Amino acid sequence: MAAISIFEALRGAGIDRADARVLLRTAVQATDAHLAAHPEQLLTAIQHERFRGWAERRRAGEPVAYIIGSREFYSLAFGVTPAVLIPRPETELLVESALGMIAPQAPVRVLDLGTGSGCVAVAIGRYRARACVTAVDISSAALEVARENATTHGVSIEFIESNWFAALRDRRFHLIVANPPYVADGDPHLGRGDLRFEPRGALVAGPIGLDAIERVVGQASRHLDPGGWLLIEHGHDQAPSARALLAAGKYREVVTHRDLAGLERVSGGRVDVTAA
Ligand code: GLN
Repeated sequence: MAAISIFEALRGAGIDRADARVLLRTAVQATDAHLAAHPEQLLTAIQHERFRGWAERRRAGEPVAYIIGSREFYSLAFGVTPAVLIPRPETELLVESALGMIAPQAPVRVLDLGTGSGCVAVAIGRYRARACVTAVDISSAALEVARENATTHGVSIEFIESNWFAALRDRRFHLIVANPPYVADGDPHLGRGDLRFEPRGALVAGPIGLDAIERVVGQASRHLDPGGWLLIEHGHDQAPSARALLAAGKYREVVTHRDLAGLERVSGGRVDVTAA
């Protein structure tokens, strides 16, 4: 195989340029700045082979994050496999909302439900060193990924395999966060892009996508301390339903937070002190 340059590799990859750059910088183990400054640099045979294989997988639709096994979230690099949802920018709002509720030195107990890659739990633990974070997931393969991410970032988290609250018995927390599945069964997006490769169970929640949110809202109050908060991510058009479920449950001070695009993405409420 004739040696090719960074410039030629990027140009000839036949995939989106931004994707090609991520794959190439990973194959070459260089930064974007390095790629931009040295377009004439030749790839070694191994780098070229690796990049060609990855570009081919990308052309077949596989998500970049699964190909390179990593995605950045909240300025931290998270390992990902097809066992977990790829961390998304909109979920940073969930972390931001949670961090806003935890004083820097507060020894609060936090539960992350359906942790997947662990990105939410690890980011919270990383930025609130005194928080005691518990993370549950129904998938042992997901928990393996999450455990590794916690180790990578030096965050101590208690991981439990559990179908939502099932294995938690009567344990209570100050704050419960969740990015549950919330896509509707027949949503055409499921047949497009990265979603085709992601675990269904982490995405789909019944005919209108509200099954998991309804369940979490219904059960979380029994696992919150009096005055504790539930924060839950939902679809951009599900905020009114999420608020209605919270208000009909045992929650007060129901709020919705908007992401940087102005979309309503995270809703929450505080368990009534008298009702917990
Ligand atoms: N925000 C994701 C999407 O629409 C869905 C994630 C989820 O269901 N938790 O791609």
